[in-house]
Amino acid sequence: GGSGPGMKLHTKILIALVVGATAGIAANLTMGGDDPTVVFVNTYLAGPIGQIFLRMLFMIVMPLVFASITLGVAGLGDLKKVGKVGGKAIGYFLATTFLAASFGLFVVNTFRPGEGLSPEVKTELMATYAEDAAGKIEAQATGNFGINTFVEIVTRNPVKSAVDTDMLGIIFFALVFGAALTQIKPERAEPMIKFLQALEDVVIKIVGMAMKIAPYGVAGLIFGVTSRFGFALLKPLSAYVLVVMGALLFHLFVNLSLILKFVIGINPLLYFSRIKGAMVTAFSTSSSSATLPTALRAAEDGLGVPPKIAGFVLPLGSTMCMNGTSIFEGITVIFLCQVFGVDLSLGGMAIVIVMSVITAVGAAGVPGGSIPLLVGILTMMGVPGEGIAIVLGVDRILDMTRTVVNVSSDISSTTFVAKSEGVWDASMVPKEAPTAA
Ligand code: ASP
Repeated sequence: GGSGPGMKLHTKILIALVVGATAGIAANLTMGGDDPTVVFVNTYLAGPIGQIFLRMLFMIVMPLVFASITLGVAGLGDLKKVGKVGGKAIGYFLATTFLAASFGLFVVNTFRPGEGLSPEVKTELMATYAEDAAGKIEAQATGNFGINTFVEIVTRNPVKSAVDTDMLGIIFFALVFGAALTQIKPERAEPMIKFLQALEDVVIKIVGMAMKIAPYGVAGLIFGVTSRFGFALLKPLSAYVLVVMGALLFHLFVNLSLILKFVIGINPLLYFSRIKGAMVTAFSTSSSSATLPTALRAAEDGLGVPPKIAGFVLPLGSTMCMNGTSIFEGITVIFLCQVFGVDLSLGGMAIVIVMSVITAVGAAGVPGGSIPLLVGILTMMGVPGEGIAIVLGVDRILDMTRTVVNVSSDISSTTFVAKSEGVWDASMVPKEAPTAA
């Protein structure tokens, strides 16, 4: 959306990124990161502005995780009520999101965009960002995902979990809470659901408020990084952007195309040509929710999916089926682990995949909807949440692109469900594409 007269928010953020990075690199090259003036600016100006922005995001992570996951599970209850159709939809959402997250992890582990920083830079980065992460890293290094890792997911105190940003504990509590919510009388459950919906709306509004100061925050944060580390981080950052974009496009045009061709039985080129309008809308709005009307039109008028199926599966898919978001989250977590020198075991990788799937299902379909949840996964893996600052400046283009993948996978889910219900096949795709609205 636009912000203020004239310039769009994302344009402002991009400009802030360029200005902050240029000033930071200039300061690093001419005066050096330890120069008293640079330290002064970082301590009293750039640092605090960046921190305030980030703290606005941290502030809402726990209530957001709790509300969105509880509501997600409660929503699954509705799906179960409608039986087979709902089950197939969930199955498809989860299977493709899982595939996407695993693919993302494979790509980032193959190309390793965050490696190649000298150990000194890594240590310094950690020291700069990581007051509260240090303890977690020690815990990670020693606790190699044994039986207790699983036992401890069952939090004995959800409030304490929230205080400690113990994501798994909160997620587990939310899953149990949501499941229980579907088992009590609907008229009793309703106020709780309404309350959680309101809570979710409110925290998403707060994200919106934080985004208002994002340009200043991003400028401050990137100045902090570049004035201390100069060019050292810009190379991994560019590699990261390329890896995320490459993985998203590959998933869209290869993985999803294979599913379209062999599972759903439609020519991928025909499919993409019919949903083009929805893809363009997704790209320009960065919001799956805002794209929902266009996506419905593409599914019904462009692909001939019966409205009964599309109208039911697509709204759910628009917040639950986020292939692009899960790819992005997996890659970003591993990238930042590489940058900060956090070594993950195979078990750690598996947790990243599972968390990417859960948080992709939980993320709201709004611009940057997955960012607060991503911060949660980072803290959980022992990467300082502040590390998000490194990628935030380039997020807009990644957000636009992952939303296209999200929407394309949503529409494929309704096509899949319709086909497996025997109410649609490729011969029912209208001969003519609908004219542009
Ligand atoms: N913007 C994405 C969407 O609406 C969510 C995200 O931030 O990943 O699909």
